Amino acid sequence: MTLTSNLGGKTAIITGSNSGIGLGIAREMAKAGADVVLNSFTDREEDHALAAEIAKETGRRARYIKADMSNPDECRQLVEEAGACDILINNAGIQHVAPIDAFPSEKWDAIIAINLSSAFHTTAAALPHMRKAGWGRVINIASAHGLTASPYKSAYIAAKHGVVGLTKTTALETAEEPITANAICPGYVLTPLVEAQIPDTMKEYDMSREDVIRDVMLKRQPSKAFATVEQMGGTAVFLASDAAAQITGTTISVDGGWTAL
Ligand code: NAD
Repeated sequence: MTLTSNLGGKTAIITGSNSGIGLGIAREMAKAGADVVLNSFTDREEDHALAAEIAKETGRRARYIKADMSNPDECRQLVEEAGACDILINNAGIQHVAPIDAFPSEKWDAIIAINLSSAFHTTAAALPHMRKAGWGRVINIASAHGLTASPYKSAYIAAKHGVVGLTKTTALETAEEPITANAICPGYVLTPLVEAQIPDTMKEYDMSREDVIRDVMLKRQPSKAFATVEQMGGTAVFLASDAAAQITGTTISVDGGWTAL
């Protein structure tokens, strides 16, 4: 049997994909032949323009659908509005950095809703489509922080450990079907989310931007290099390929050696 990583005829929904890792994954999925559905909670001209740009670059169908991943109904509506979901990539995420005793409750709730609960709701809506199509891939974007912890990121780390647990359960519930569920655990990737953490971390540690990048962010990343959004996209394409058909219920770290420490 010839194995393929051509995703022609498949539809991939990528949550939180109007920037950063999600957008990088959407581009790589479309390059591999998939039709793609981009998403975020905004409905701006530039959001739709991103989808048009991907369609033009790759010749695939690309659409942008607004849905707020903090709202369970909108998570499920995203899948229904897309009409098909062969590949579900749960990527939407936010961050907040503060010690537990000063961590605002509303930030905790928002992070758990967007980074964890949304993946439950979209997966619940997507599995019937995958079962009907007789094929499916759930790819959850967790984090090195789904496997290890750091101070001041309690909600994010709880959510990402939760995503790893949800991934394993999804894999077991679909184990006898041609559906897999896995989590990608990126180390530091320089995206708007990481960029936004730099000022708070500079304040927290009283350090310059350069020192925060080298001594705090990349301190635990032995490669001393940020991972790229293209590498996340390539890993997602691999997990969607035939070669990965027996890879399920696991995590794949793309973290420059972080979790080997
Ligand atoms: P980013 O801020 O560039 O992207 C986050 C995306 O989520 C954006 O498209 C944003 O619009 C979307 N989003 C936020 N709130 C949303 C909501 N309520 N509804 C729908 N979409 C929403 O950040 P990123 O670094 O690309 O992060 C993407 C994912 O990768 C996140 O889950 C993050 O935790 C994870 N991650 C990132 C890194 C990193 O170093 N950048 C490392 C590990 C894991």
